[in-house]
Amino acid sequence: MQEAVTASLPADGGLYMPLSLPKIPAAFVHNMGDMSLREIAYVTSNVFLGEDFDSSEIKRIVDNALSFDIPLVEISENRFALELFHGPTGVFKDIGTRFLAGLLEAVNRNDSRKLNVLVSTTGNTGVAVASAFGGMKGVNVYILYPYGTVSKKTASIMLASGGNIHAIEVSGGIDDCKKMVSSAFRDKELRETVMLSSANSTNFARLIPQLALFFYAAGRMANSVKPIRQPFDIALPSGNLGMLTAGLMAKHIGLKCGQLIGACNVNNTFDRYMKSGVVESAPTIRTLAPLMDMPDPSNLPRLMALAGGDLQKLRSEVSSATVDDDMIVKTIRQTALTTGYIADPHTAIAIAALNLRDDKLRPGLVFATAAPSKSAHIINEIIGAELLADDSDQIPVNGLRQRAERLAPTYPALKKYLLSHNNNL
Ligand SMILES: *Cc1c(COP(=O)(O)O)cnc(C)c1O
Repeated sequence: MQEAVTASLPADGGLYMPLSLPKIPAAFVHNMGDMSLREIAYVTSNVFLGEDFDSSEIKRIVDNALSFDIPLVEISENRFALELFHGPTGVFKDIGTRFLAGLLEAVNRNDSRKLNVLVSTTGNTGVAVASAFGGMKGVNVYILYPYGTVSKKTASIMLASGGNIHAIEVSGGIDDCKKMVSSAFRDKELRETVMLSSANSTNFARLIPQLALFFYAAGRMANSVKPIRQPFDIALPSGNLGMLTAGLMAKHIGLKCGQLIGACNVNNTFDRYMKSGVVESAPTIRTLAPLMDMPDPSNLPRLMALAGGDLQKLRSEVSSATVDDDMIVKTIRQTALTTGYIADPHTAIAIAALNLRDDKLRPGLVFATAAPSKSAHIINEIIGAELLADDSDQIPVNGLRQRAERLAPTYPALKKYLLSHNNNL
């Protein structure tokens, strides 16, 4: 497991995945309704990491990754939202990136070499990664994003997180960025000189703390005021399918729930695969939920592996839905009008997916993945009121330290760049 966390991506171009899922203590499943999220996350993380890390270290990493409020909110009768967006950058990715940062720090503490963390992104993962790794000793972070997807201001927010953060604008698309990063991991020569790790959700470690969220929500829902006897369905705003993969792993190790729904926007390679059995990616379409504009979901191979490569089995364990922009708008408006709950566009996709079920009355839970204030202008327009203040201006920037660097969209350009930043080794 330590290798999977540090190296992140094997040199053969695949993904790390545990050979078999660990067993969770039976008593845990009975007691979890009374446990805090951090206590639960300690147990579920320990089963994956206990062989490689001290229990006190795991506890410290868990507590730091989950140091903010994660409330379970009732939207309406038997409809709940687990709000994962109260962390430093307002998206749920704070959880996985902070957990990964803690682990890498522990791994690297006694190593004199610098660790180089690579990440490809169209924006928000970069902010979450910069926030989690900013200022960390012995670690350099390289955030690659396509030209034009990250504003100068966002780039300076990333750079302001710490001198170890490098924002790199690539004159190409997100596919070029992803290819550059995966080429680096396949380059054995580079990996002999430069210690590499990835902060994308291809790094298995990011999924570990996410398992706990499912058990926590299940425990709390079982305890809710109106006891929920029927199995409840869970709808997840899905892009790279990291959360859905974590949910399916949770199910395999003992989570009791109904359907697990991967809710996509129109970048719905996953939903089409579930229906046709064919993986056919498509060009990126911009939507109101841009953090899910992922036509090439990197965790799909993990989901298939969990189902033993058997599509029928996968279909029996998870379902899928597609929600377009019109439906996002309608769902935000209707949810606000009928319940008073303000959902951001990503979360609205999951709420819409619950509404698309055959039996809409079954209890349902959505993971609320982004803060509504991050989409304030969209939501205000939909609701027709200046309900939310745009908080994107409130992130402190300690002076615009420097600009993003530029790279050609080729692997040799990245390699040269990485080697020149590591010539002191
Ligand atoms: C990344 C992201 C998603 C998609 O999560 P995956 O685990 O990649 O499927 C959904 N909502 C928001 C707000 C995100 O940032």
